[in-house]
Amino acid sequence: MTSMDSAPALSGHTLLTAVYGDPVMHSLSPAMHNAAYAALAMERAYAAFHVTPEHLREALRAIPALGFLGVNLTVPHKERALRMMAHLSAEARVLRAVNCVINRNGVLHGDNTDARGLEADLRAQQVTIEGRLAVIIGAGGAASSAVLASLRLGAARIVICNRTVARANRLARGFAHYLGERGGGRPRQTIEARGLDTLVNATSMSTPAIVINATPMGLKTGGFAPLSYDATPSECVFYDMIYAREATPFLAPSIAIRRRAIDGAGMLLNQGMLAFELFNGVASPPGVMRTALMSALGRI
Ligand code: NAP
Repeated sequence: MTSMDSAPALSGHTLLTAVYGDPVMHSLSPAMHNAAYAALAMERAYAAFHVTPEHLREALRAIPALGFLGVNLTVPHKERALRMMAHLSAEARVLRAVNCVINRNGVLHGDNTDARGLEADLRAQQVTIEGRLAVIIGAGGAASSAVLASLRLGAARIVICNRTVARANRLARGFAHYLGERGGGRPRQTIEARGLDTLVNATSMSTPAIVINATPMGLKTGGFAPLSYDATPSECVFYDMIYAREATPFLAPSIAIRRRAIDGAGMLLNQGMLAFELFNGVASPPGVMRTALMSALGRI
């Protein structure tokens, strides 16, 4: 492997990492990880495998069998895989989801880099939410990582808005233990669960510092749920975990009224850089994964 652009040269020495997903063909992780391997001249390659939910257990068992260094998990495997790990990091336990499986001497360790990836991106983008309200749309694994990142960034109040309110309630309750553990002299932080109707309530939408979309709404066809963009404060940031070449249906109306809009490319990049280090024991060279991602997204 000599050039960042060339396909990895596979040999009998090549060690593999991968992503499992359903679907997975759209994944930009191979471009990012293989660019880092090429830049470091490592005899390693990162592949994408289409793994359906019924084959997840077998595919995870193949990790030690085939000597994979580690595997990323994407939709819809993150929550189901939790029960299939021999060890779980504290972070994966709090998030109740696994996006990184690390093979340590044939034993599967589940970790999760999504919350750290989002937190790193928000810090890099200098988004400040300390002491403020964060509105999070969705109640799955991605929303869980948004809750944790918002807590770490010091949000005073988090409102989870989800189509299924019971699921939002479960997510909020799941953090009660985490909030209790932190206790001490820290400022009080609260988490509430609501329905999507909150997004059109002008009073509720008049104070958030950030509104985060952690659902796939707008990913394929169809628009986004009704939301009172105009009611939000002028400094409110709209963050879509979805990333695309064009503005997403969630972000487009915020751009139209000059709110700051950020898509999930930076989160993807940061969770990927953290995963690379977990799998390989070395950090990716500065800028290499970013350049590969931005190039795959047609932004450079
Ligand atoms: P998930 O567990 O399947 O959760 C999906 C959530 O979206 C649920 O709360 C669900 O509501 C809601 N939802 C789905 N379709 C909806 C619709 N048509 N209308 C209203 N609500 C809808 O998925 P996830 O793993 O949390 O991922 C969510 C999104 O984040 C995905 O698009 C994923 O690609 C993205 N993501 C991006 C990154 C990144 O690095 N940028 C990282 C992680 C995830 P119900 O509970 O009512 O079903």
